[in-house]
Amino acid sequence: MSQRARDVNKRIQSPINLDKTIRAPPSKPVVKFGTVEKAEFENLGTTVEVVLSAGTVKFRQKEYVLQQFHFHTPSEHRIELEYFSLEIHFVYKAANNATLVLGALFELTKDGSTTALLTVLAASLDEITEPGSVTETGH
Ligand SMILES: [Zn+2]
Repeated sequence: MSQRARDVNKRIQSPINLDKTIRAPPSKPVVKFGTVEKAEFENLGTTVEVVLSAGTVKFRQKEYVLQQFHFHTPSEHRIELEYFSLEIHFVYKAANNATLVLGALFELTKDGSTTALLTVLAASLDEITEPGSVTETGH
């Protein structure tokens, strides 16, 4: 493999160390999150996953619909070699079946505060302690 191919792989192959050598895309994704009364929440054995279609992303003239989101702890990706406490991957599909994944990195707070999304999910976590178990989230 050439040095150029190794450099390209370093930028596009997961996990990625995000640093100053990686340029931002020329256009930003337009993200819209919806709300649901409940969603399927499942223990897959290696992660927990929330299955829902309440959200879209428009990126490079293509629209993607949210399929699920799941968790990585610690984060899969790094910024300047630093891991984060949690990373959520929001997985989207376009009509032509193309996949788009948005990653959100989380840090622990000093006061223990969290987000509404994580609070709702934490309330149901004890219902899916066994791999393969499924429950429903709240709103
Ligand atoms: Zn993932």
